[in-house]
Amino acid sequence: MHPNSEIQNYHSSRPAVFLDRDGVLNVEAGYIHNIADLHLIPGVAQAVRRLNDLDIFCCLVSNQSGPARGYYPVDHVEALHQRLCQLLQTEADAHLNALYYCPYLSPPEGGTNPEFSLWSTWRKPNTGMLIAAAWEHNLDLSQSFMIGDKATDVDMAHNAGCCGILVETGFGSRVLSGAYQHHTQPDYIATDLSAAIAWICEQLGNLEIER
Ligand SMILES: [Mg+2]
Repeated sequence: MHPNSEIQNYHSSRPAVFLDRDGVLNVEAGYIHNIADLHLIPGVAQAVRRLNDLDIFCCLVSNQSGPARGYYPVDHVEALHQRLCQLLQTEADAHLNALYYCPYLSPPEGGTNPEFSLWSTWRKPNTGMLIAAAWEHNLDLSQSFMIGDKATDVDMAHNAGCCGILVETGFGSRVLSGAYQHHTQPDYIATDLSAAIAWICEQLGNLEIER
């Protein structure tokens, strides 16, 4: 590739909204063994649709250690994502532009299935999924947003130079009260995904005006 074409790509890169899965899009229910047990949180399909309508790249980034723990095969994770996409489509004609997940977990953290038991740069709070998405879809991480319900979601956002938003759904309220994981400093706290996306739209609107 000619060096100039890289510069060209850099300048044309765009912001994205990254979404955690469990506790943000679907109701937090631990490891979901039955596909029919995956249910959307009310309002999320409409919130994703709002991003679609604004042509804002919207991307799932999810730690899914079930395969590494030997709970279910990677096909099951794919089937859960198919249901998730189907529910978004049915409820509001909404779609995710890309889906990334990390099936890996190191043995000290509980990985037992040799195929997936390894330390991975993709596992949050590491930034591998965001970096891969940025390369593959020409995204500007410094102008992007990550919405999650765990401290590790906010940590990943900050590790990648993204704006980190914590929602109070899922584990979010327990993170804020100090009852789950560790203290974190989100750039914004939202009651749920709809509120987070409303805030992002305001920020992007402001950025547009500044240019
Ligand atoms: Mg979560």
